[in-house]
Amino acid sequence: MRNLKEDYFNPKFSHIYVERAARERPETKRILSRLPAANVIEIGHYKDVFCRKGQNYALQHSAQSLILANRQGNWLYKGADVCQDFGNRHFYYASSVMNCVYDCEYCYLKGMYPSGHLVAFVNLEDLFLSVSEHLTAHPMYVCISYDTDLFALEGLLGYVREWVSFAGRNEGLTIEVRTKCANWDAWKEMPVLPNVIYAFTLSPQDVTARQEHGTPSLSQRTRCAARVLRAGHAVRLCFDPMLYCADWEAQYDGMLLQAAKDIPFSDLTDVSVGAFRISQDYLKKMRKQEPYSAAAQFPYQNVGGVYRYPRELEQKMLQFMTRRLRSYLPEGSIYVEGAKG
Ligand code: SF4
Repeated sequence: MRNLKEDYFNPKFSHIYVERAARERPETKRILSRLPAANVIEIGHYKDVFCRKGQNYALQHSAQSLILANRQGNWLYKGADVCQDFGNRHFYYASSVMNCVYDCEYCYLKGMYPSGHLVAFVNLEDLFLSVSEHLTAHPMYVCISYDTDLFALEGLLGYVREWVSFAGRNEGLTIEVRTKCANWDAWKEMPVLPNVIYAFTLSPQDVTARQEHGTPSLSQRTRCAARVLRAGHAVRLCFDPMLYCADWEAQYDGMLLQAAKDIPFSDLTDVSVGAFRISQDYLKKMRKQEPYSAAAQFPYQNVGGVYRYPRELEQKMLQFMTRRLRSYLPEGSIYVEGAKG
């Protein structure tokens, strides 16, 4: 679908579906006021639109609609085994938004959601209540930008700012905000807090240009990460997922040189490294959505329900990256998913 003319589709968020129960909420009104030209359609439940059968994720993503809803039930989850927990015992992730404005070919969301539209839940205070309840029992580490890229939506939703303000009132809470966004304006007035970590995902420029559609370039991300670091924030770099290509060693070497030129690695909180991996159910659906993507169609090996690169290749990629990183950072600041020996 990416080679179809852009003007073939409605512009992003030209249509906004609003749950009846969310219609009068102040957050809904605030978000709608930022998209004054949009057609607003009232619906009974977000699933009436988001979970219909027979939707085409790629086509919908090209003309992405926004759905504003009130979330019921649980939206705070224990971290999955395939996710890096950075040594945190009580590791959770929160899903206040489903789907992303970026379009990475390897994104697991394509295998997870039935629709390419984007759902934002407007009752964040219920999520904060649930976090507060957990905090009475133990400290928490919560990844708040998991099934989306919250920073890429900050100008519209402002959810990172709300989370940061919540973290400022709750010492036992550490949040990680993962992003590929490079819009410094979104950080400009964020208070500096020790319990908020901004995690920039970096990929070689070739990977970004070919497979991370709509995202900022590598140099935009490294320059933004450097600025965020200079402003005094805690910054993590994520080389995860590493993706295989014929000249992957040269690609990842070039990326590290570029990153180290812009960013003083010794000032980073830490870095994470991981090779691409995905659950078998998600990959099956993702392959249908991405028939021409090298990342989606690679002949991965199924290890206990998770597709990964063949073990020898995976270990080679992880060891290559960690060896390089050791020349910039102490061993204890390098977190590696799935490394053996
Ligand atoms: S930025 Fe992250 S969440 Fe968004 S499409 Fe890419 S991989 Fe998926």
